Amino acid sequence: MEKEIVIIGGSAAGVTAGITARRHHPDAKITLVRMEDKVLVPCGIPYLFGTVDNPEKNLVPDAILNKNNIDLVIDEVESIDRAGKTVAMKSGKEISYQKLVLATGSLPIVLPLPGIEKKNVFSVKKDIAYLQALSDELDKASDLVVIGGGFIGVEFADECKKKNGDLNVTIVELLPHCLSLACDEEFCLQVEKRLVDRGVNILAGERAEAVVGDDKVEYVKLASGKKLKADVVILGVGVTPNTKLASAAGLKTGEGKAIHVDQYMRTSDKDIFACGDCCEKFSFFDREPLGLRLASIASIEARIVGANLFELKRKNEGAIGVFATAVNGLTVGTVGLTEGAARKAGYDVIAEVASGPDRHPGGMPGCSELHVKLLFEKKNGKLMGGQVWGGVSGGELLNAISAAIASGMRAEEVATFQMGTHPALTASPIAYQLVNAAENAICHIRKQKILMVDDDRDFVRAVKAILTNQPYLVDVAYNRKEAMKKIESEKPDLLLLDIMLDEVDDGFTICRELKSDPEYWSIPILAMSAISREAGIDPGLGDHFKADDFLEKPVKAVDLIEKIRKHL
Ligand SMILES: Cc1cc2nc3c(=O)[nH]c(=O)nc-3n(C[C@H](O)[C@H](O)[C@H](O)COP(=O)(O)OP(=O)(O)OC[C@H]3O[C@@H](n4cnc5c(N)ncnc54)[C@H](O)[C@@H]3O)c2cc1C
Repeated sequence: MEKEIVIIGGSAAGVTAGITARRHHPDAKITLVRMEDKVLVPCGIPYLFGTVDNPEKNLVPDAILNKNNIDLVIDEVESIDRAGKTVAMKSGKEISYQKLVLATGSLPIVLPLPGIEKKNVFSVKKDIAYLQALSDELDKASDLVVIGGGFIGVEFADECKKKNGDLNVTIVELLPHCLSLACDEEFCLQVEKRLVDRGVNILAGERAEAVVGDDKVEYVKLASGKKLKADVVILGVGVTPNTKLASAAGLKTGEGKAIHVDQYMRTSDKDIFACGDCCEKFSFFDREPLGLRLASIASIEARIVGANLFELKRKNEGAIGVFATAVNGLTVGTVGLTEGAARKAGYDVIAEVASGPDRHPGGMPGCSELHVKLLFEKKNGKLMGGQVWGGVSGGELLNAISAAIASGMRAEEVATFQMGTHPALTASPIAYQLVNAAENAICHIRKQKILMVDDDRDFVRAVKAILTNQPYLVDVAYNRKEAMKKIESEKPDLLLLDIMLDEVDDGFTICRELKSDPEYWSIPILAMSAISREAGIDPGLGDHFKADDFLEKPVKAVDLIEKIRKHL
């Protein structure tokens, strides 16, 4: 039977889900339904008001659907019949599916302020005609008020002022700085400086209270009493997941009223998947719900969906979150946690910076200063976040940092990572910011202490050699008495324990003693033995023993490091 896949949504998530599904299911019938005749690249919308003069230059090309043999239907899906496995459209047509993908995206939040319904108050809809109306009004305007200093508000303000230097542009932001939710303060200040250089007014720490005027907006009233003259108001205050269809179909919604999905991107109906702005997100770092909605996250989720439709092949590990913007020639971006967010979440972190030209020598054409801040967890040196400001090279650097975070790299590895450099393309190998920020952090990161308890001196030497370049301090105890003394006085971060110590059960005894005393419960025990499970005992995790993990001797370097990392 032919596989039938229906995708609702034709933007970042829907298109990527379709392409990925085609890769994994060459013979399937794939239909993509979307409402718009032409799909705007959403991230490019602010640039339609300055840099890019024509929406035609900012479209997701339909050719990509043709190329992947995906049938395009332009219509609105009005309902889903889960029992009959069909979707019904406004035109009256129905399409049947075996697997359905919801990529219905998000809608802009409209603040519930008095007067918000007045003419010339615009939110940021992904709709060409609506945005054309905004553009027409801006052409006639003298005063623009942008409510919200997040990345959408900031980009709109910058672009509108760039296009029309005579336009009086003011950003009203509730938080102390523009981009406060995305960046640490020093990065926000850089952005604000560039906005002010452009001629944009910033009123941070101010709350818009009402939109005032007869039929059309005349001014915006702030809680502080200020009145800002406005011919046009743009709302850039975030988005809300579009779950209308999903809710009506009885699918579970969860955090932030988004469509609930599991780690395989399945909704509460196992034949219906969801991806992109419409569905729940969770953090890569602590698995907590996340409100971040980005095209980059949408497309990764869609790649998971496309692969998983008929067999579960990919798992969502949570969003790291890579955000970047460009304001008046300045690239600014964040990947992972900011220092502020990490500390608020209770992480003990070390943040270090490195700056320098992003070409070498600095006189090379196209050279800009590039400032990189990296964030590491103090206890183990794990990379948790990065921020950049500077030239365009910072944009791709953020993606490299994201890959490093995803693969669990630690400061020592970032500092010795093998970059490539070229005068016309990158910073010099001596001043390479990513590496140097990690180098600066290393001396502040506490090396974790491993106590190895083993009487086989050759094996001890071999393990020490394996761990030479790893960020650990390795101490050794050769018998139980010595081990218990060191555990008590030095409180190691991990115990590497030979369970057949002294060829008696001294290792087992150490294990039992530590696991029965709450004071030592936080010390993971990685047990080792030449006796395998086949020999009749379960040397790893048996009840009488309760080590946290087990390695069979002789150990392979890669296994040893992997197991240690798992517990530190
Ligand atoms: C101004 C702006 C700038 C941005 N800049 C960036 C950026 O620089 N980087 C970044 O990563 N992210 C950026 N984002 C966020 C990004 O645009 C979104 O995360 C992304 O668009 C989400 O894609 P999506 O496919 O999930 O949803 P959407 O883009 O919202 O698309 C939803 C699709 O679903 C369709 N649809 C909905 N309901 C139905 C229905 N009932 N029947 C048929 N079709 C339906 C719509 O027609 C549409 O095609 C920006 C967003 C905005 C607004």
